[in-house]
Amino acid sequence: MAKRTDLTTYDYRKKRARFLAESDVCHLCGHAGADVVDHVQPVAAGADPEDTSNWLPAHGVKRCPTCGRNCNGAKGAKTRPTGLKTSRDWYTA
Ligand SMILES: [Zn+2]
Ligand SMILES: [Zn+2]
Repeated sequence: MAKRTDLTTYDYRKKRARFLAESDVCHLCGHAGADVVDHVQPVAAGADPEDTSNWLPAHGVKRCPTCGRNCNGAKGAKTRPTGLKTSRDWYTA
């Protein structure tokens, strides 16, 4: 059985909150106030979604209070956690 990580779990959110408390400078625009984590290596490409060394703060749900950009959203939908629900099994079979 393949390892499956649910990014909506309490543990994950707690970990993310702690990560953003330590550094909330968005890696995309360079301003503070990041509210989501962006994965350096895409989870879809096999990266561990919970590996914090693969995390970078980014603006996502809330827009950047400084420049007004929705940084992670503007980058594309491919790194969004909701994409994890999509099974690739049928696609590669
Ligand atoms: Zn930003
Ligand atoms: Zn900004």
